[in-house]
Amino acid sequence: MTRGMRPEQVWGLGLSGEAAAAISAALGSGYGLRNWPAGQHPGERDLGRGAPLVIFVVKEAWDALSGPARKRLEEWEVPQRVLVLSQDQSVSDFDEVLENGFLSAVSEPLTDKKIRDVIFRAKEVKSLYDDIFRMTREIMLERELLARKTDLVLFLNRFLTRATESLDPTVILDKAREDLHLLLPLRGLSCILWRPGESGEYEAELFLEPDMGHAAELHWTGELLRQGARLAGQGMHSYRATFLDGANGKSAMDIPQTAEDLIALPLRAGGVTFGVLALYRAKGRPLGKDQVQTLYASVNHLALALKNAALFSQVKIRADHDGLTRIHNRRAFDERLVEELRRHQRYGQPMSLLMLDIDHFKNINDRYGHLMGDQVLRELGHLLSETLRSTDFTARYGGEEFVVLLPQTTEEQSRILAERLRRIIAEAQFEHDGKTFGITASIGVATLLPGALIKRKELLDKADKALYQAKRLGRNQVCTSLGPVSRLGEAPLDEANAG
Ligand code: GH3
Ligand code: MG
Ligand code: MG
Repeated sequence: MTRGMRPEQVWGLGLSGEAAAAISAALGSGYGLRNWPAGQHPGERDLGRGAPLVIFVVKEAWDALSGPARKRLEEWEVPQRVLVLSQDQSVSDFDEVLENGFLSAVSEPLTDKKIRDVIFRAKEVKSLYDDIFRMTREIMLERELLARKTDLVLFLNRFLTRATESLDPTVILDKAREDLHLLLPLRGLSCILWRPGESGEYEAELFLEPDMGHAAELHWTGELLRQGARLAGQGMHSYRATFLDGANGKSAMDIPQTAEDLIALPLRAGGVTFGVLALYRAKGRPLGKDQVQTLYASVNHLALALKNAALFSQVKIRADHDGLTRIHNRRAFDERLVEELRRHQRYGQPMSLLMLDIDHFKNINDRYGHLMGDQVLRELGHLLSETLRSTDFTARYGGEEFVVLLPQTTEEQSRILAERLRRIIAEAQFEHDGKTFGITASIGVATLLPGALIKRKELLDKADKALYQAKRLGRNQVCTSLGPVSRLGEAPLDEANAG
């Protein structure tokens, strides 16, 4: 017999030869009858070999079965059992037949019609069972799918919430790394963000894992710059690197062995690509379709959060800086002064303040025009930033007046610095219509001695007075004022300056 033509199995339990012959005849070809004569019954191996469509069970044979053998057949739900009664037996209560798990009962003699009816009903029930079984399996699959989708939605929700909790890109990326690690095991995460600088060339910020070896750091820096150049369409003009927080208990980031370990995802917002997120995968199974989709959705969220953070920082820089000179403005200076005074009081270190005013600036405007005056202010701002240390805080205080905060600087040191600044300014050359000209500035210095208690306004007044003094004494000079807060019993500085 070839495959696919296996006859449908029908079993008998305790059938007489006559009954078995009647059944075989009624079934015809396409069916195979297997009968266990009285006193025998199917064993474990028979049951394991495949279920028949129907088992014809003679009542006596059923009653004669041992407890375990009967239980085994009762619990075998696949085939239908049909009770065969002799002519003189009758079923008083049909419910009893059903209760015992029989599909129906037939009485001898077994005619063709009775047998075919039984087979017909058994087939109907089997097909019903098959349908129910298939539907149940489909429902289970749906449920599993739904549960997985719910998990992903919850993941995305958490990811989005956490990404928008901060406006600091380092914090946003730290959280993203933590969350993405749940989606796919990560060895590390790094990121490059870029934006056009003043000249249109791209300035980049790199975010790297901390505590990397030198070689790994070089590798990741190069990788990010390469990915950035590829997506930005041009190389980065300049970059600076920031390190993410340490990821607890994780081995330090090294260099990926294969290209598959690296997933580089572009960061886009408003149709513009402004960065790349580089994920360094830990070894593991390839990503499933759902995971890939969720990863993309997460990175889209992340891109928006990072774009917001970048816009915020731009707005903040704009709010803190002077539009003309690009150095800090008065507002930022006022804030910083409060901070520095607090630090001065806490740590008892000296601090100084320079107030600088261009001499006869009105003449510059009058002679060379307002635009040239602006250019002078711009160049002076640049000159100050270049000359001073990064810990010093330079700001345009207004008009042609500048201030410099010098933390941890004594009166003597700040006077020397102010004098140096004055000279550099006096030596600077400005160009107008092919001719050069110079400017001078007057500088007032105020110093707070360690432990001196003084208010913001008093310090500013002191510097202003010293500046006024410098102007009064002929401009292009530095004057200091320690005033009444002097603890060293020095000679009044006005006199010293006058000398
Ligand atoms: P002094 O030596 O006494 O400081 O003389 P001065 O002319 O510098 O002083 P004054 O305060 O009388 O004039 C300051 C001038 O600075 C007046 C103003 O037009 C000019 N000025 C202020 N802000 C700007 C600016 O943003 N651009 C230009 N071009 N000029 C400015
Ligand atoms: Mg002025
Ligand atoms: Mg002036």
